[in-house]
Amino acid sequence: MTTYKILVTDGLDESGLSILRASAMVDDRPGISAEDLFRDIPGYDALIVRGRTKVTASVIQAGSRLKAIGRAGVGVDNIDLEAAKKGNVTVVNAPMSTSLAVAELTFGLLLAVAREIPRADAGMKQAQWLKKELEGVELNGKTLGVIGFGRIGMEVGRRAAAFGMNVIAYDPLISEDDIKQRGAEPVSIQDLYAWSDFISLHLPLNVQTRDMMGRQAFSQMKDGVRIVCAARGGIIDEAALITALNSGKVAGAGLDVFEQEPPGLTPVVSHPRVIATPHVGAQTVEAQTRASEDIAAEVLSALQGKPLRWKVN
Ligand code: NAD
Repeated sequence: MTTYKILVTDGLDESGLSILRASAMVDDRPGISAEDLFRDIPGYDALIVRGRTKVTASVIQAGSRLKAIGRAGVGVDNIDLEAAKKGNVTVVNAPMSTSLAVAELTFGLLLAVAREIPRADAGMKQAQWLKKELEGVELNGKTLGVIGFGRIGMEVGRRAAAFGMNVIAYDPLISEDDIKQRGAEPVSIQDLYAWSDFISLHLPLNVQTRDMMGRQAFSQMKDGVRIVCAARGGIIDEAALITALNSGKVAGAGLDVFEQEPPGLTPVVSHPRVIATPHVGAQTVEAQTRASEDIAAEVLSALQGKPLRWKVN
């Protein structure tokens, strides 16, 4: 029987590691450097990453026995999919595992932006009673525009409806009927910008979507719009967002993802009307357990030539 060797580079919940160890030799090396990864990858049949490890074309080419790359989560923008395809390396992810966690964080950000909860808490911790300054807005009766109405966008839409919001969505890759069935009114991107009181982004980062929310997009929005993004850094043009915040066009933003991660104390992170979290959308006990178990099973299936549920390339 073949003994597969699997390298795990960004940490994986114990439940997934046990599934892997039952059928393979596993090296769990969280935080491995790019140089060490490049040097050691020829010894492995599979590589499992989260978002930190950059799986470049040179890593894939160096992986002479590499057959599978697993992403314990959704976004695969840190993996060179073309190079993987060329090298006959199967890329799989665990797309169902983290949707609810990200949808719930998004809702936390929506509420935090609407009511300035972090500022209220920071004031209390300095013995300040900011009651008068902290007049927020309600979600009830407002229009939420969701850009990208896939797994996470749809879950955000369901929660927004429960809060009494009017949910509209723009997703050019889903039919209008499907958007309606998922509980939102399908609209063009121009109408979404023009009508939304809150906008939440749930689309992938790619060449089409990079900097999609820039100066021109902000100019089409309602004055005082509030924006939340737990999708990917780079979809919102941060420089344009700062300008829009300073002019009052955007009243507040809640961001879990950034152009550079970690961003340090950039203008966007330090802006008083931005609530920033360190890419924690998928960081729940439940999501990490699901992601690790799903990706472990899927990578083993890829190595053993079994049918795959979540083949990316
Ligand atoms: P999904 O594939 O189910 O949904 C994405 C949707 O975006 C699809 O329906 C697609 O048709 C749509 N889309 C593609 N291009 C678009 C465009 N130009 N304009 C509008 N819509 C477009 O993915 P998902 O699981 O819902 O994930 C959504 C996003 O959340 C991804 O960017 C993913 O990387 C990100 N994510 C973030 C975290 C986090 O920790 N913050 C965790 C998981 C996923």
